Amino acid sequence: MADSIRALVEGTEAGTRPLSVAILGAGAAGLCMAIKLQKAGIGDFTIFEKAASVGGTWRDNTYPGSGCDVPSLLYSYSFEPKADWSRKFAPQPEIVDYFEGVARKYELLPRIRFNTEIAEAHFDEAEGLWRLRSASGEEFTANVLISGVGQLNRPAYPNIEGLSDFKGVAFHSARWDHSVDLAGKRVGVVGNGASAIQFVPEIAPRVGHLTIFQRTPNWCVPKPDRPFREWEKRLYAVVPALARLQRWWTYLTLERNYLAFVQGSFFGKLFERAATKEMEAHISDPELRAKLTPDYPAGCKRILLTNDWYPALARPNVSVETSHIAKVTENAVETEDGVAHPVDVLIYATGFESTDFLAPMKVTGRGNADLNTVWARGAEAHRGVAVAGFPNFFMLYGPNTNLGHNSIIFMIECQANYIAQCVEALANSRLRYLDVKPEAMESFNRELQQDMQKTVWAAGCSSWYKTADGKVTNNWSSFTARYWWELRHPDFAEYALVGGPA
Ligand code: NAP
Repeated sequence: MADSIRALVEGTEAGTRPLSVAILGAGAAGLCMAIKLQKAGIGDFTIFEKAASVGGTWRDNTYPGSGCDVPSLLYSYSFEPKADWSRKFAPQPEIVDYFEGVARKYELLPRIRFNTEIAEAHFDEAEGLWRLRSASGEEFTANVLISGVGQLNRPAYPNIEGLSDFKGVAFHSARWDHSVDLAGKRVGVVGNGASAIQFVPEIAPRVGHLTIFQRTPNWCVPKPDRPFREWEKRLYAVVPALARLQRWWTYLTLERNYLAFVQGSFFGKLFERAATKEMEAHISDPELRAKLTPDYPAGCKRILLTNDWYPALARPNVSVETSHIAKVTENAVETEDGVAHPVDVLIYATGFESTDFLAPMKVTGRGNADLNTVWARGAEAHRGVAVAGFPNFFMLYGPNTNLGHNSIIFMIECQANYIAQCVEALANSRLRYLDVKPEAMESFNRELQQDMQKTVWAAGCSSWYKTADGKVTNNWSSFTARYWWELRHPDFAEYALVGGPA
Protein backbone atom coordinates (compact mmCIF):
# COMPACT_ATOMS: atom_id res chain seq x y z
CA MET A 1 0.00 0.00 0.00
CA ALA A 2 1.37 3.44 -0.92
CA ASP A 3 2.33 5.75 1.96
CA SER A 4 -0.39 8.26 1.13
CA ILE A 5 -3.03 5.53 1.31
CA ARG A 6 -1.60 4.13 4.52
CA ALA A 7 -1.71 7.62 6.07
CA LEU A 8 -5.27 8.08 4.90
CA VAL A 9 -6.41 4.73 6.19
CA GLU A 10 -4.70 5.34 9.51
CA GLY A 11 -6.44 8.69 9.76
CA THR A 12 -9.88 7.22 9.25
CA GLU A 13 -11.70 4.25 10.64
CA ALA A 14 -9.81 1.24 9.36
CA GLY A 15 -11.23 -1.83 7.70
CA THR A 16 -11.59 -3.38 4.34
CA ARG A 17 -14.79 -3.70 2.43
CA PRO A 18 -15.99 -5.16 -0.80
CA LEU A 19 -16.00 -2.47 -3.40
CA SER A 20 -17.49 -2.58 -6.85
CA VAL A 21 -16.17 -0.54 -9.73
CA ALA A 22 -17.83 0.30 -13.05
CA ILE A 23 -15.54 1.26 -15.92
CA LEU A 24 -17.08 2.84 -19.00
CA GLY A 25 -15.42 1.89 -22.28
CA ALA A 26 -13.10 -0.93 -23.34
CA GLY A 27 -10.65 1.24 -25.26
CA ALA A 28 -7.03 1.99 -24.40
CA ALA A 29 -8.10 3.78 -21.20
CA GLY A 30 -10.70 1.34 -19.86
CA LEU A 31 -8.47 -1.69 -20.39
CA CYS A 32 -5.52 0.00 -18.71
CA MET A 33 -7.71 0.93 -15.74
CA ALA A 34 -8.97 -2.63 -15.35
CA ILE A 35 -5.42 -3.99 -15.30
CA LYS A 36 -4.31 -1.42 -12.72
CA LEU A 37 -7.27 -2.40 -10.52
CA GLN A 38 -6.36 -6.08 -10.87
CA LYS A 39 -2.81 -5.23 -9.81
CA ALA A 40 -4.15 -3.31 -6.80
CA GLY A 41 -6.19 -6.34 -5.77
CA ILE A 42 -9.56 -4.76 -6.61
CA GLY A 43 -11.27 -7.67 -8.29
CA ASP A 44 -14.89 -6.56 -8.47
CA PHE A 45 -15.02 -4.46 -11.60
CA THR A 46 -17.13 -4.49 -14.73
CA ILE A 47 -16.31 -2.77 -18.00
CA PHE A 48 -19.36 -1.49 -19.84
CA GLU A 49 -18.74 -1.22 -23.57
CA LYS A 50 -21.28 0.15 -26.02
CA ALA A 51 -19.88 -1.82 -28.98
CA ALA A 52 -19.27 -5.51 -29.53
CA SER A 53 -15.48 -5.50 -29.24
CA VAL A 54 -12.56 -3.70 -27.59
CA GLY A 55 -10.29 -0.97 -28.95
CA GLY A 56 -12.37 2.22 -28.66
CA THR A 57 -11.54 4.86 -31.24
CA TRP A 58 -9.06 2.47 -32.89
CA ARG A 59 -11.84 -0.08 -33.40
CA ASP A 60 -14.10 2.63 -34.88
CA ASN A 61 -11.67 4.37 -37.24
CA THR A 62 -11.31 1.77 -39.96
CA TYR A 63 -10.97 4.23 -42.84
CA PRO A 64 -8.32 3.41 -45.50
CA GLY A 65 -4.87 4.39 -44.29
CA SER A 66 -5.93 4.71 -40.64
CA GLY A 67 -2.91 4.61 -38.38
CA CYS A 68 -1.09 6.23 -35.54
CA ASP A 69 0.97 9.40 -35.72
CA VAL A 70 2.79 8.53 -32.49
CA PRO A 71 5.80 6.23 -33.00
CA SER A 72 4.70 2.64 -32.49
CA LEU A 73 7.45 1.74 -30.01
CA LEU A 74 5.83 4.22 -27.61
CA TYR A 75 2.28 3.23 -28.45
CA SER A 76 1.80 0.42 -25.96
CA TYR A 77 1.39 0.23 -22.19
CA SER A 78 4.70 0.45 -20.34
CA PHE A 79 3.80 -2.76 -18.49
CA GLU A 80 2.95 -4.54 -21.76
CA PRO A 81 5.44 -3.19 -24.28
CA LYS A 82 5.20 -4.34 -27.86
CA ALA A 83 8.38 -4.35 -29.88
CA ASP A 84 7.35 -6.32 -32.96
CA TRP A 85 5.34 -3.62 -34.74
CA SER A 86 5.50 -3.89 -38.51
CA ARG A 87 6.23 -0.18 -38.99
CA LYS A 88 7.67 2.83 -37.19
CA PHE A 89 4.10 4.19 -37.13
CA ALA A 90 1.58 1.43 -36.65
CA PRO A 91 -1.44 0.92 -38.89
CA GLN A 92 -4.87 0.73 -37.22
CA PRO A 93 -5.47 -3.05 -37.54
CA GLU A 94 -2.24 -3.77 -35.68
CA ILE A 95 -3.20 -1.39 -32.86
CA VAL A 96 -6.61 -3.04 -32.48
CA ASP A 97 -4.86 -6.45 -32.44
CA TYR A 98 -2.61 -5.19 -29.66
CA PHE A 99 -5.54 -4.11 -27.46
CA GLU A 100 -7.43 -7.34 -28.19
CA GLY A 101 -4.31 -9.31 -27.22
CA VAL A 102 -3.98 -7.35 -23.97
CA ALA A 103 -7.66 -7.93 -23.12
CA ARG A 104 -7.18 -11.68 -23.68
CA LYS A 105 -3.89 -11.91 -21.81
CA TYR A 106 -5.28 -10.17 -18.70
CA GLU A 107 -8.51 -12.21 -18.93
CA LEU A 108 -10.59 -9.07 -19.22
CA LEU A 109 -13.08 -10.30 -21.83
CA PRO A 110 -15.36 -12.04 -19.27
CA ARG A 111 -15.38 -8.77 -17.30
CA ILE A 112 -16.71 -6.72 -20.21
CA ARG A 113 -20.45 -6.25 -20.81
CA PHE A 114 -20.43 -5.64 -24.55
CA ASN A 115 -23.25 -3.87 -26.37
CA THR A 116 -24.12 -2.01 -23.17
CA GLU A 117 -24.09 1.75 -23.40
CA ILE A 118 -24.52 3.52 -20.09
CA ALA A 119 -26.90 6.43 -20.65
CA GLU A 120 -27.34 7.69 -17.09
CA ALA A 121 -25.31 7.61 -13.90
CA HIS A 122 -26.64 9.01 -10.65
CA PHE A 123 -24.77 9.20 -7.34
CA ASP A 124 -26.83 7.99 -4.40
CA GLU A 125 -25.16 9.92 -1.58
CA ALA A 126 -26.82 8.05 1.28
CA GLU A 127 -25.65 4.69 -0.01
CA GLY A 128 -22.38 5.87 -1.52
CA LEU A 129 -23.38 4.16 -4.74
CA TRP A 130 -23.47 5.05 -8.39
CA ARG A 131 -26.74 3.93 -9.95
CA LEU A 132 -26.34 3.29 -13.65
CA ARG A 133 -28.92 2.84 -16.36
CA SER A 134 -28.09 1.55 -19.81
CA ALA A 135 -29.58 2.85 -23.04
CA SER A 136 -31.80 -0.23 -23.11
CA GLY A 137 -33.02 0.35 -19.54
CA GLU A 138 -30.91 -2.16 -17.59
CA GLU A 139 -29.85 -1.01 -14.12
CA PHE A 140 -26.55 -1.53 -12.33
CA THR A 141 -24.83 -0.20 -9.21
CA ALA A 142 -21.18 0.41 -8.35
CA ASN A 143 -19.32 2.16 -5.53
CA VAL A 144 -16.93 3.75 -7.95
CA LEU A 145 -17.55 4.99 -11.48
CA ILE A 146 -14.63 5.44 -13.87
CA SER A 147 -15.08 6.86 -17.33
CA GLY A 148 -12.75 5.64 -20.05
CA VAL A 149 -14.80 7.00 -22.93
CA GLY A 150 -12.12 9.49 -23.92
CA GLN A 151 -12.35 12.55 -26.12
CA LEU A 152 -12.70 11.05 -29.61
CA ASN A 153 -15.61 8.66 -29.35
CA ARG A 154 -18.51 10.54 -30.96
CA PRO A 155 -18.21 11.70 -34.57
CA ALA A 156 -19.04 15.37 -35.17
CA TYR A 157 -21.28 15.88 -38.19
CA PRO A 158 -21.21 19.24 -39.93
CA ASN A 159 -24.24 21.46 -39.64
CA ILE A 160 -24.68 22.34 -43.30
CA GLU A 161 -27.91 23.40 -44.98
CA GLY A 162 -29.42 20.73 -47.22
CA LEU A 163 -27.44 17.71 -45.97
CA SER A 164 -30.63 15.68 -45.67
CA ASP A 165 -31.49 16.47 -49.33
CA PHE A 166 -28.32 14.76 -50.59
CA LYS A 167 -29.29 11.71 -52.68
CA GLY A 168 -25.80 10.23 -52.93
CA VAL A 169 -23.95 8.23 -50.26
CA ALA A 170 -22.68 10.07 -47.20
CA PHE A 171 -20.75 8.81 -44.20
CA HIS A 172 -18.32 9.97 -41.50
CA SER A 173 -14.66 8.94 -41.63
CA ALA A 174 -15.02 7.34 -38.18
CA ARG A 175 -17.94 5.25 -39.50
CA TRP A 176 -16.43 4.35 -42.86
CA ASP A 177 -18.85 2.53 -45.14
CA HIS A 178 -16.69 -0.18 -46.67
CA SER A 179 -19.57 -1.39 -48.83
CA VAL A 180 -19.30 1.74 -50.99
CA ASP A 181 -17.19 1.26 -54.08
CA LEU A 182 -15.45 4.58 -54.68
CA ALA A 183 -13.92 3.58 -58.02
CA GLY A 184 -14.57 6.24 -60.62
CA LYS A 185 -16.89 8.22 -58.31
CA ARG A 186 -16.97 11.95 -57.71
CA VAL A 187 -16.11 12.22 -54.04
CA GLY A 188 -16.37 15.25 -51.79
CA VAL A 189 -14.41 15.31 -48.52
CA VAL A 190 -15.45 17.83 -45.88
CA GLY A 191 -12.44 18.61 -43.70
CA ASN A 192 -8.67 18.17 -43.97
CA GLY A 193 -7.56 17.16 -40.47
CA ALA A 194 -5.61 14.14 -39.14
CA SER A 195 -8.18 11.67 -40.50
CA ALA A 196 -8.56 13.21 -43.98
CA ILE A 197 -4.81 13.39 -44.55
CA GLN A 198 -4.62 9.64 -43.97
CA PHE A 199 -7.48 8.42 -46.17
CA VAL A 200 -7.35 10.96 -49.03
CA PRO A 201 -4.02 9.64 -50.40
CA GLU A 202 -5.43 6.08 -50.19
CA ILE A 203 -8.61 6.74 -52.14
CA ALA A 204 -7.42 9.46 -54.54
CA PRO A 205 -5.89 7.03 -57.11
CA ARG A 206 -9.16 5.11 -57.51
CA VAL A 207 -11.85 7.81 -57.45
CA GLY A 208 -12.96 9.72 -60.53
CA HIS A 209 -12.56 13.14 -58.98
CA LEU A 210 -11.98 14.16 -55.39
CA THR A 211 -12.81 17.61 -54.02
CA ILE A 212 -11.54 18.55 -50.60
CA PHE A 213 -13.61 21.25 -48.95
CA GLN A 214 -11.03 22.96 -46.80
CA ARG A 215 -11.92 25.60 -44.23
CA THR A 216 -8.48 26.05 -42.70
CA PRO A 217 -5.11 24.71 -43.90
CA ASN A 218 -2.88 22.69 -41.58
CA TRP A 219 0.82 22.52 -40.89
CA CYS A 220 1.96 19.14 -42.28
CA VAL A 221 5.44 17.77 -41.65
CA PRO A 222 7.07 14.59 -43.03
CA LYS A 223 6.38 11.37 -41.13
CA PRO A 224 9.58 9.41 -40.46
CA ASP A 225 7.81 6.15 -41.23
CA ARG A 226 9.11 2.89 -42.71
CA PRO A 227 8.67 -0.83 -42.10
CA PHE A 228 10.86 -2.28 -39.35
CA ARG A 229 13.50 -4.50 -40.85
CA GLU A 230 13.44 -8.17 -39.90
CA TRP A 231 16.81 -7.89 -38.16
CA GLU A 232 15.51 -4.96 -36.07
CA LYS A 233 12.53 -7.00 -34.91
CA ARG A 234 14.75 -9.97 -34.14
CA LEU A 235 17.14 -7.76 -32.20
CA TYR A 236 14.31 -6.27 -30.12
CA ALA A 237 13.02 -9.80 -29.44
CA VAL A 238 16.40 -11.08 -28.32
CA VAL A 239 17.42 -7.94 -26.40
CA PRO A 240 14.18 -6.44 -25.04
CA ALA A 241 16.26 -3.83 -23.20
CA LEU A 242 17.06 -2.28 -26.57
CA ALA A 243 13.39 -1.81 -27.35
CA ARG A 244 12.95 -0.26 -23.90
CA LEU A 245 15.84 2.08 -24.56
CA GLN A 246 14.37 3.05 -27.91
CA ARG A 247 11.01 3.63 -26.21
CA TRP A 248 12.60 5.96 -23.68
CA TRP A 249 14.53 7.78 -26.35
CA THR A 250 11.33 8.27 -28.37
CA TYR A 251 9.52 9.52 -25.27
CA LEU A 252 12.25 12.05 -24.49
CA THR A 253 12.42 13.26 -28.09
CA LEU A 254 8.67 13.81 -28.19
CA GLU A 255 8.73 15.40 -24.74
CA ARG A 256 11.24 17.96 -26.03
CA ASN A 257 8.75 18.77 -28.78
CA TYR A 258 6.50 20.36 -26.16
CA LEU A 259 8.77 23.40 -26.52
CA ALA A 260 7.36 23.88 -30.03
CA PHE A 261 3.97 24.54 -28.47
CA VAL A 262 5.10 27.54 -26.48
CA GLN A 263 4.05 30.70 -28.29
CA GLY A 264 6.81 32.28 -30.34
CA SER A 265 9.24 29.42 -29.74
CA PHE A 266 12.17 28.64 -31.99
CA PHE A 267 11.10 24.96 -32.16
CA GLY A 268 7.68 26.01 -33.45
CA LYS A 269 9.39 27.92 -36.25
CA LEU A 270 11.38 24.78 -37.12
CA PHE A 271 8.12 22.87 -37.60
CA GLU A 272 6.80 25.67 -39.80
CA ARG A 273 9.96 25.66 -41.88
CA ALA A 274 9.87 21.85 -42.29
CA ALA A 275 6.19 22.00 -43.26
CA THR A 276 6.72 24.77 -45.81
CA LYS A 277 9.66 22.91 -47.35
CA GLU A 278 7.58 19.73 -47.61
CA MET A 279 4.71 21.57 -49.28
CA GLU A 280 6.98 23.36 -51.73
CA ALA A 281 8.64 20.06 -52.65
CA HIS A 282 5.33 18.65 -53.88
CA ILE A 283 3.13 21.58 -54.82
CA SER A 284 4.33 23.79 -57.65
CA ASP A 285 1.11 25.72 -58.30
CA PRO A 286 1.47 29.07 -56.45
CA GLU A 287 -2.29 29.40 -56.05
CA LEU A 288 -2.54 25.98 -54.39
CA ARG A 289 0.50 26.76 -52.21
CA ALA A 290 -1.24 29.89 -50.99
CA LYS A 291 -4.39 27.92 -50.17
CA LEU A 292 -2.37 25.39 -48.20
CA THR A 293 -0.36 27.86 -46.12
CA PRO A 294 -1.71 28.38 -42.60
CA ASP A 295 -1.88 31.87 -41.08
CA TYR A 296 -1.63 30.69 -37.46
CA PRO A 297 1.34 29.30 -35.51
CA ALA A 298 2.22 25.63 -35.93
CA GLY A 299 0.67 23.49 -33.21
CA CYS A 300 -2.37 25.70 -32.58
CA LYS A 301 -4.21 22.94 -34.45
CA ARG A 302 -2.69 19.46 -34.42
CA ILE A 303 0.55 19.29 -36.47
CA LEU A 304 -0.05 16.59 -39.07
CA LEU A 305 2.52 13.94 -39.95
CA THR A 306 2.28 12.73 -43.53
CA ASN A 307 4.35 11.85 -46.56
CA ASP A 308 1.55 11.41 -49.07
CA TRP A 309 -0.91 14.25 -48.45
CA TYR A 310 0.75 16.86 -50.67
CA PRO A 311 1.49 14.36 -53.48
CA ALA A 312 -2.22 13.43 -53.37
CA LEU A 313 -3.26 17.09 -53.58
CA ALA A 314 -0.99 17.53 -56.61
CA ARG A 315 -2.87 14.82 -58.53
CA PRO A 316 -4.86 16.02 -61.56
CA ASN A 317 -8.07 14.39 -60.22
CA VAL A 318 -7.88 16.16 -56.83
CA SER A 319 -8.91 19.73 -56.14
CA VAL A 320 -8.90 21.82 -53.00
CA GLU A 321 -11.87 24.12 -52.61
CA THR A 322 -11.48 26.94 -50.12
CA SER A 323 -14.68 28.83 -50.71
CA HIS A 324 -16.83 27.76 -47.76
CA ILE A 325 -19.69 25.34 -48.22
CA ALA A 326 -22.98 27.22 -48.58
CA LYS A 327 -25.29 24.23 -48.90
CA VAL A 328 -25.65 20.70 -50.11
CA THR A 329 -28.18 19.84 -52.81
CA GLU A 330 -29.41 16.48 -54.13
CA ASN A 331 -26.21 15.85 -56.06
CA ALA A 332 -23.72 18.62 -55.35
CA VAL A 333 -21.97 20.76 -52.80
CA GLU A 334 -22.48 24.45 -53.42
CA THR A 335 -19.82 26.81 -52.22
CA GLU A 336 -20.25 30.46 -51.25
CA ASP A 337 -18.73 31.61 -54.54
CA GLY A 338 -21.83 30.18 -56.24
CA VAL A 339 -20.11 27.13 -57.78
CA ALA A 340 -21.85 23.75 -57.61
CA HIS A 341 -19.46 20.80 -57.21
CA PRO A 342 -21.22 17.60 -58.33
CA VAL A 343 -20.52 14.66 -55.98
CA ASP A 344 -21.71 11.06 -55.76
CA VAL A 345 -20.21 10.41 -52.33
CA LEU A 346 -19.73 12.82 -49.46
CA ILE A 347 -17.30 11.94 -46.69
CA TYR A 348 -17.37 13.91 -43.46
CA ALA A 349 -13.84 14.08 -42.10
CA THR A 350 -15.11 16.54 -39.54
CA GLY A 351 -13.67 15.06 -36.37
CA PHE A 352 -15.31 14.44 -33.03
CA GLU A 353 -17.54 16.04 -30.41
CA SER A 354 -14.39 16.46 -28.36
CA THR A 355 -15.33 19.27 -25.97
CA ASP A 356 -18.55 17.58 -24.84
CA PHE A 357 -16.60 14.83 -23.07
CA LEU A 358 -19.20 12.56 -21.42
CA ALA A 359 -22.28 13.98 -23.16
CA PRO A 360 -24.86 12.78 -24.08
CA MET A 361 -24.55 10.56 -21.00
CA LYS A 362 -26.40 12.15 -18.10
CA VAL A 363 -24.22 12.13 -14.99
CA THR A 364 -25.67 13.52 -11.77
CA GLY A 365 -23.70 13.92 -8.59
CA ARG A 366 -24.40 15.24 -5.09
CA GLY A 367 -27.54 17.32 -4.79
CA ASN A 368 -28.59 16.08 -8.23
CA ALA A 369 -26.01 18.36 -9.91
CA ASP A 370 -25.86 17.59 -13.61
CA LEU A 371 -22.32 17.27 -14.99
CA ASN A 372 -23.22 18.71 -18.38
CA THR A 373 -24.74 21.76 -16.67
CA VAL A 374 -21.71 22.15 -14.39
CA TRP A 375 -19.59 22.06 -17.55
CA ALA A 376 -21.83 24.39 -19.57
CA ARG A 377 -19.00 26.96 -19.82
CA GLY A 378 -16.36 24.38 -20.63
CA ALA A 379 -15.38 21.10 -18.99
CA GLU A 380 -12.84 21.09 -16.20
CA ALA A 381 -11.63 18.60 -13.67
CA HIS A 382 -9.12 18.21 -10.88
CA ARG A 383 -5.91 16.94 -12.47
CA GLY A 384 -8.10 15.81 -15.37
CA VAL A 385 -9.58 12.97 -13.30
CA ALA A 386 -12.10 14.15 -10.68
CA VAL A 387 -14.88 16.72 -10.43
CA ALA A 388 -16.06 18.40 -7.21
CA GLY A 389 -19.58 17.30 -6.32
CA PHE A 390 -19.23 13.99 -8.18
CA PRO A 391 -17.85 11.66 -5.51
CA ASN A 392 -16.15 8.38 -6.32
CA PHE A 393 -16.22 9.39 -9.98
CA PHE A 394 -13.01 9.46 -11.99
CA MET A 395 -12.08 10.00 -15.61
CA LEU A 396 -9.34 8.79 -17.90
CA TYR A 397 -8.37 11.07 -20.81
CA GLY A 398 -10.65 13.67 -19.25
CA PRO A 399 -10.55 17.48 -19.53
CA ASN A 400 -7.13 19.02 -20.18
CA THR A 401 -5.26 15.77 -20.59
CA ASN A 402 -4.91 15.60 -24.36
CA LEU A 403 -1.50 16.22 -25.94
CA GLY A 404 -0.08 17.69 -29.10
CA HIS A 405 3.40 16.29 -28.59
CA ASN A 406 3.52 12.89 -26.93
CA SER A 407 1.69 9.59 -26.41
CA ILE A 408 -1.73 9.69 -24.79
CA ILE A 409 -1.07 6.19 -23.45
CA PHE A 410 1.48 7.74 -21.10
CA MET A 411 -1.16 10.12 -19.75
CA ILE A 412 -3.71 7.32 -19.40
CA GLU A 413 -1.25 5.28 -17.36
CA CYS A 414 -0.62 8.24 -15.03
CA GLN A 415 -4.37 8.60 -14.53
CA ALA A 416 -5.00 4.88 -14.05
CA ASN A 417 -2.24 4.71 -11.40
CA TYR A 418 -3.71 7.69 -9.57
CA ILE A 419 -7.29 6.42 -9.73
CA ALA A 420 -6.27 2.91 -8.65
CA GLN A 421 -4.73 4.44 -5.52
CA CYS A 422 -7.97 6.33 -4.80
CA VAL A 423 -9.98 3.13 -5.21
CA GLU A 424 -7.50 1.26 -3.01
CA ALA A 425 -7.95 3.92 -0.34
CA LEU A 426 -11.71 3.49 -0.46
CA ALA A 427 -11.36 -0.27 -0.27
CA ASN A 428 -9.04 -0.09 2.72
CA SER A 429 -11.04 2.37 4.77
CA ARG A 430 -14.57 2.85 5.93
CA LEU A 431 -14.91 5.88 3.69
CA ARG A 432 -18.20 6.11 1.87
CA TYR A 433 -16.75 8.42 -0.67
CA LEU A 434 -13.97 10.75 -1.79
CA ASP A 435 -15.05 14.07 -3.24
CA VAL A 436 -12.45 16.50 -4.51
CA LYS A 437 -12.69 19.87 -2.74
CA PRO A 438 -13.95 22.69 -4.99
CA GLU A 439 -11.08 24.95 -3.89
CA ALA A 440 -8.47 22.32 -4.83
CA MET A 441 -10.03 21.87 -8.25
CA GLU A 442 -10.34 25.61 -8.77
CA SER A 443 -6.75 26.30 -7.83
CA PHE A 444 -5.51 23.51 -10.13
CA ASN A 445 -7.52 24.87 -13.06
CA ARG A 446 -6.54 28.49 -12.43
CA GLU A 447 -2.88 27.58 -12.66
CA LEU A 448 -3.47 25.34 -15.67
CA GLN A 449 -5.30 28.04 -17.62
CA GLN A 450 -2.57 30.58 -16.71
CA ASP A 451 0.04 28.18 -18.11
CA MET A 452 -2.16 27.63 -21.15
CA GLN A 453 -1.89 31.28 -22.12
CA LYS A 454 1.79 30.71 -22.93
CA THR A 455 0.97 27.95 -25.40
CA VAL A 456 0.00 28.05 -29.06
CA TRP A 457 -3.31 26.39 -28.20
CA ALA A 458 -4.44 29.71 -26.75
CA ALA A 459 -3.41 31.49 -29.97
CA GLY A 460 -6.03 32.66 -32.42
CA CYS A 461 -7.13 29.54 -34.24
CA SER A 462 -10.13 27.31 -33.74
CA SER A 463 -9.51 23.65 -32.97
CA TRP A 464 -11.08 20.64 -31.34
CA TYR A 465 -8.97 21.48 -28.28
CA LYS A 466 -11.22 24.38 -27.30
CA THR A 467 -14.83 25.42 -26.93
CA ALA A 468 -16.55 27.90 -29.22
CA ASP A 469 -15.79 30.53 -26.53
CA GLY A 470 -12.07 29.83 -26.84
CA LYS A 471 -11.49 28.02 -23.53
CA VAL A 472 -8.93 25.25 -24.01
CA THR A 473 -10.70 22.31 -22.35
CA ASN A 474 -8.87 19.42 -23.94
CA ASN A 475 -5.12 19.91 -23.74
CA TRP A 476 -2.63 19.53 -20.94
CA SER A 477 -0.63 22.75 -20.69
CA SER A 478 2.86 21.45 -19.98
CA PHE A 479 5.31 18.58 -20.22
CA THR A 480 3.92 15.09 -19.63
CA ALA A 481 6.66 14.54 -17.04
CA ARG A 482 5.05 17.27 -14.96
CA TYR A 483 1.70 15.51 -15.23
CA TRP A 484 3.31 12.24 -14.12
CA TRP A 485 4.90 14.01 -11.16
CA GLU A 486 1.63 15.62 -10.09
CA LEU A 487 -0.34 12.39 -10.36
CA ARG A 488 2.11 9.87 -8.96
CA HIS A 489 0.18 9.82 -5.64
CA PRO A 490 -3.19 11.34 -4.79
CA ASP A 491 -2.96 14.07 -2.16
CA PHE A 492 -5.94 13.16 -0.03
CA ALA A 493 -5.88 16.59 1.60
CA GLU A 494 -7.39 17.74 -1.70
CA TYR A 495 -10.42 15.53 -1.11
CA ALA A 496 -13.35 15.60 1.29
CA LEU A 497 -13.26 12.19 2.93
CA VAL A 498 -16.75 11.20 3.84
CA GLY A 499 -17.19 8.24 6.18
CA GLY A 500 -20.13 6.28 7.42
CA PRO A 501 -21.68 3.04 6.31
CA ALA A 502 -21.72 2.24 2.67
P1 NAP B 1 -10.24 17.31 -36.84
O1 NAP B 1 -8.79 17.37 -36.66
O2 NAP B 1 -11.11 17.92 -35.81
O3 NAP B 1 -10.55 17.89 -38.27
C1 NAP B 1 -11.84 18.16 -38.67
C2 NAP B 1 -11.79 18.83 -40.02
O4 NAP B 1 -13.11 19.08 -40.46
C3 NAP B 1 -11.10 20.19 -39.98
O5 NAP B 1 -10.38 20.34 -41.16
C4 NAP B 1 -12.27 21.16 -39.88
O6 NAP B 1 -11.98 22.43 -40.38
C5 NAP B 1 -13.25 20.46 -40.77
N1 NAP B 1 -14.63 20.83 -40.52
C6 NAP B 1 -15.35 20.63 -39.40
N2 NAP B 1 -16.61 21.08 -39.59
C7 NAP B 1 -16.65 21.59 -40.85
C8 NAP B 1 -17.66 22.20 -41.62
N3 NAP B 1 -18.87 22.41 -41.11
N4 NAP B 1 -17.35 22.60 -42.87
C9 NAP B 1 -16.12 22.41 -43.38
N5 NAP B 1 -15.13 21.83 -42.69
C10 NAP B 1 -15.40 21.41 -41.44
O7 NAP B 1 -10.74 15.77 -36.95
P2 NAP B 1 -9.93 14.49 -37.38
O8 NAP B 1 -9.18 14.72 -38.62
O9 NAP B 1 -10.89 13.35 -37.35
O10 NAP B 1 -8.89 14.33 -36.22
C11 NAP B 1 -9.30 14.47 -34.86
C12 NAP B 1 -8.24 13.97 -33.95
O11 NAP B 1 -8.28 12.56 -33.97
C13 NAP B 1 -6.82 14.29 -34.32
O12 NAP B 1 -6.39 15.58 -34.02
C14 NAP B 1 -6.06 13.25 -33.58
O13 NAP B 1 -5.90 13.58 -32.23
C15 NAP B 1 -7.00 12.07 -33.72
N6 NAP B 1 -6.54 11.31 -34.86
C16 NAP B 1 -5.33 10.75 -34.71
C17 NAP B 1 -4.80 10.07 -35.75
C18 NAP B 1 -3.48 9.49 -35.54
O14 NAP B 1 -2.74 9.37 -36.46
N7 NAP B 1 -3.11 9.14 -34.29
C19 NAP B 1 -5.47 9.95 -36.94
C20 NAP B 1 -6.72 10.52 -37.07
C21 NAP B 1 -7.24 11.21 -36.01
P3 NAP B 1 -11.38 23.58 -39.42
O15 NAP B 1 -9.95 23.22 -39.22
O16 NAP B 1 -11.58 24.83 -40.17
O17 NAP B 1 -12.18 23.53 -38.16
